[in-house]
Amino acid sequence: MTIAQVAASARRSLGPYCESECRALCCSKGILPIDAKSQPRFGNPGSFIVLDNGCPHLFASKCRIYQNRPSACREYPIWVRGNTVTLSTGCPGVQSGKFYAHERQLLRLGATVLRQ
Ligand code: SF4
Ligand code: SF4
Repeated sequence: MTIAQVAASARRSLGPYCESECRALCCSKGILPIDAKSQPRFGNPGSFIVLDNGCPHLFASKCRIYQNRPSACREYPIWVRGNTVTLSTGCPGVQSGKFYAHERQLLRLGATVLRQ
């Protein structure tokens, strides 16, 4: 497995927790870094969108554009840049150690794992 594959597996594993327990905190109260390609969809000129009032695409704790959601949303809460993997400390899943097994795998693959 590659670092990117382990990260993808970690994101997938978090899905049920996101839906049933966290209920889309990152979409309703978090901050997601939005890349330039994604900005038009949000109409936000900055490089970050602050979702204090919730994302306009969030409805009943579900993303209405899930299949076409921005890459920032697809990546969250794990960013992979080369051998560096960053976990978002704003995510309750990260905070409660849901990724410990994946972190061990990433370290075995030589990744540097950061929290931010
Ligand atoms: S904040 Fe983390 S646990 Fe909560 S919905 Fe977002 S990715 Fe899932
Ligand atoms: S586009 Fe969808 S996944 Fe992204 S913040 Fe909005 S509701 Fe969440």
